[in-house]
Amino acid sequence: MNHPEVDVVLVGLGWTGGILAKELSEAGLRVVALERGGPRSTAEDFALPRIRDELRYGIRHGLMQDSARDTLTVRNHPRETALPMRRLGSFLPGEGVGGAGSHWNGLTWRWSDAEFRVRSLYEERHGKAFIPADMPLQDWGISYAELEPWYDRFERTAGVSGQAGNLQGRSVAGGNPFEAPRQRDYPLPPLHSGLAGQLYADAARQLGWHPFPRPSANASQAYTNPDGAQFGECQYCGFCERFGCEANAKGSPHFTVIPAALRQPSFTLRTQAWVTGVELDKANASVARGVRYVDTLTATEHYQPARLVVLSAYAINNVHLLLLSRIGQPYDAASGQGQIGRNYAYQGGVGAQLFFEDHQFNPFMGTGGNGIASDDFNANQGFDRGPVGAIGGALLGAGHSNGRPIAYRPLPAGTPRWGSAWKAATAHWYGRAMAVGASLSVMPHRHNAYDLDPTYRNAFGQPLLRLTFDYQANDQRLAAFAAERVNEVARALKPSQWSPASARASWSVVPYQTTHNTGGTPMGSSPAASATNNFGQLWQVPNLFVTGASLFPHNAAYNPTGLVGALAYRSADAIKRRYFQAPGRLLNA
Ligand SMILES: Cc1cc2nc3c(=O)[nH]c(=O)nc-3n(C[C@H](O)[C@H](O)[C@H](O)COP(=O)(O)OP(=O)(O)OC[C@H]3O[C@@H](n4cnc5c(N)ncnc54)[C@H](O)[C@@H]3O)c2cc1C
Repeated sequence: MNHPEVDVVLVGLGWTGGILAKELSEAGLRVVALERGGPRSTAEDFALPRIRDELRYGIRHGLMQDSARDTLTVRNHPRETALPMRRLGSFLPGEGVGGAGSHWNGLTWRWSDAEFRVRSLYEERHGKAFIPADMPLQDWGISYAELEPWYDRFERTAGVSGQAGNLQGRSVAGGNPFEAPRQRDYPLPPLHSGLAGQLYADAARQLGWHPFPRPSANASQAYTNPDGAQFGECQYCGFCERFGCEANAKGSPHFTVIPAALRQPSFTLRTQAWVTGVELDKANASVARGVRYVDTLTATEHYQPARLVVLSAYAINNVHLLLLSRIGQPYDAASGQGQIGRNYAYQGGVGAQLFFEDHQFNPFMGTGGNGIASDDFNANQGFDRGPVGAIGGALLGAGHSNGRPIAYRPLPAGTPRWGSAWKAATAHWYGRAMAVGASLSVMPHRHNAYDLDPTYRNAFGQPLLRLTFDYQANDQRLAAFAAERVNEVARALKPSQWSPASARASWSVVPYQTTHNTGGTPMGSSPAASATNNFGQLWQVPNLFVTGASLFPHNAAYNPTGLVGALAYRSADAIKRRYFQAPGRLLNA
């Protein structure tokens, strides 16, 4: 079935699709959003008590991508044969209106110039030879100053609670002293940090570090955002990650930007609409004409023509759709040539588990993002990674976010793994444990990339996306360094027993780590070194934009969505104010 042409077709309606849907339809553009999953509302989908079903949502991934229909194949090294990930593990892409934005935790960070100038910075500080030849590290072609108003916009939309550390260049006590200057404070005061956070803060201060409350889109107070979306006050129920919030206390697109778009007569949403490819003009491969999709309810094929196509289908799916549609030059790891699929990065992590006979942490109370962090070893101007021999940084912290009774079973090393001793230890330690952890940046490596799998196909008969990834020497050095810092603060906490942090030898797709997949369509300053400009506009196809973390040339220790949201607002602004006034390639601002 062929549909009438519209101004914009959005592929995927999570955080970034939702932001563009609202901004572009409010500007009067005719926008159609195609979302492969179903509709979603707080009242119907996230009502109590059903939404606290840990087995359904936490273990069986009730809100995630259906891996029977589409998944990835995975391997650690190009010499290996990749195998399909039949059950999601290490990361959990979302599905349905709101995308992963409805079951995320909410941690919302601003990334600073130290990230966007990473190559220049390390070359200036340590010389060109410091950057390994097999690390395609690049500057992003964007600055913090360009992003600042858009970070602010996203923080207000998502209802972020936090403590400013740098207001217009003025240092603010209690906040992150390494923060880049912000024009305004967070819209909401910080969340309660809980006992684990307080203990961590005391120990970090003893070590001379600078602890501060984590910024997160969990509303510390009832809140109405600038678009009129109403947030309830967070009840610290501990069911953020993998769950929807029955109180709308967690900033999520399904009750903020998406309803605002739906109020516009120029906006149309089609759910169960699985986009299978982007069509280019037959005579001119630098023009996108529209997208093909399958209505998975009726099993019918559709074509939606549009003047502008936006891939807002999450980092992984954006790359898959471009490769399937043969748009841009696919990356070839052997030659290092090509842009689509390169610079894949994940996030590293190390953690120590601490047990205290004399503390009761009430781990069933928490939010996705409360707790305390310290940025002393992250990619900011104050920390020199030269002696560590690594590029990147670590974000340390502690707090209880998800003490759910089925999944959360902290036990000291050496505890029997079944039977009555295991049961007794599980009951004893459930409330007496806390973790200290660090998330770590991951720099690109020439082998860490996506391409199309030569063997396995999805439910639509298309090649699966193949992911090749492992931690490299730089990541290992950074992880070893971060594990030492984590263990330092863990010792200062004087636990009764503890399991120290250590660097992971290799990446495994099995246990959940983070859904912070980045790269594949890296942005930059020139077509020779990037897939898109800093608006996410494909160099080769100016009427095709990409949103989300596939635009990141490397991954930081921070969670991605603060930056993902800021970039989406910035792209929306450029599309409505500049692209539709004079269609064509936008120059980096
Ligand atoms: C468990 C979990 C916890 C997280 N916690 C945090 C956190 O604390 N802080 C943070 O910064 N980030 C966090 N994230 C990541 C965050 O959710 C994402 O960065 C954010 O949602 C990305 O927005 P997006 O618009 O790119 O993708 P999404 O919000 O995932 O939206 C993409 C949408 O596209 C749809 N789609 C995909 N393919 C197709 C297709 N072919 N056709 C049609 N539709 C399609 C999907 O169904 C989905 O609805 C977390 C993620 C998960 C899963």
